[in-house]
Amino acid sequence: MGPGPSNVAPSVLKAMSAPLVGHLDPVFVKMMEEIKAMLRQVFLTQNEITFPVSGTGSAGMEFCCVNLIEPGDEVVIGINGVFGGRLAEVAERCGAKVTRVEAPWGRILEPGPMAEALKGRKPKLVGLVHAETSTGALTPVPEIARMAREAGALMLLDAVTSLGGCPVQVDEWGIDAVYSATQKCLSCPPGLSPVSFSARALEVARKRRSKVQSWYLDVNLLASYWGQDRVYHHTAPISMNYALHEALRLVLEEGLENRWRRHRENHLALKEGLQTLGLGLASQEGHQLWQLNAVTVRPGTDEVSVRQRLLSEFNIEVGAGLGPLKGKVWRIGLMGETSSRANVKKVLQALEVCLA
Ligand code: PLP
Repeated sequence: MGPGPSNVAPSVLKAMSAPLVGHLDPVFVKMMEEIKAMLRQVFLTQNEITFPVSGTGSAGMEFCCVNLIEPGDEVVIGINGVFGGRLAEVAERCGAKVTRVEAPWGRILEPGPMAEALKGRKPKLVGLVHAETSTGALTPVPEIARMAREAGALMLLDAVTSLGGCPVQVDEWGIDAVYSATQKCLSCPPGLSPVSFSARALEVARKRRSKVQSWYLDVNLLASYWGQDRVYHHTAPISMNYALHEALRLVLEEGLENRWRRHRENHLALKEGLQTLGLGLASQEGHQLWQLNAVTVRPGTDEVSVRQRLLSEFNIEVGAGLGPLKGKVWRIGLMGETSSRANVKKVLQALEVCLA
């Protein structure tokens, strides 16, 4: 019940133990097509370029940045926690001139300051973290995406923690580039990063002045492997793709709306139970994540020993606070398979014992 990896369904683990086939085997090629089709359904997009990058969520972040940014490009990044900061750092390493729009940790990025940062600028890209796992805040995307488009910029979204746990509507919101990760609300082990590029984003990557500095993450090369050409690029992690195939099948079997509802209801049940223990959430009211709950540690409580006892006595892992929230919050994940009423009860009962 930490910030990920979340629990994984037995059928996903079983899929991973299936015998290996080659990465250009017809069986695997068919599976690749199904993974792309299922990812489009989960991202709610028609984008042709939609596939899992080999690597964790940070590889997806790098994939988007290395393909879309060239040295000297202007980029605006919203930062309200660890991962917005990481995105700005990656963009800078690609040579971007980054304008940082900061919000206090635990709060969302409001459209106002983003509009201010865009005034008089013509950035190539605007980047935002949808669900900030370090703080438990969910920033609304549509208005900021609209402003980015009006400014002529590509809109890049980090959907690592949001995908599969709450609405992520890539086409409807006008997102040009999005990356996620398998180990959060998709409930698959860590190791793949689903990504999607709009036609606009792909055109930007195709018409670059300079070569993409990462050979491994170059969309132009990866598209030839994941597209109809099937040109060997790298050896796809076969077992991870088996796992993702099964995890996506489970997501769609449940149905996106049912899955979002389950995450919301379990979050509300946890929040209510925490209130009876005299505990509240640290993130902004009205914008709290359903899948990651940052619980404020009461003054005088030994944050570390409660966390250690939850693990050693109750077999429950919860996350610690990061950065300015270090020592101030516990991060309770209710992601994917982990989001169940039984787990909510279990963690509340265990917390009650530890706090007493
Ligand atoms: N972005 C967000 C919002 C995350 O929560 C994480 C990881 O927790 C990442 C990016 C990086 O993903 P990974 O750790 O899979 O590389």
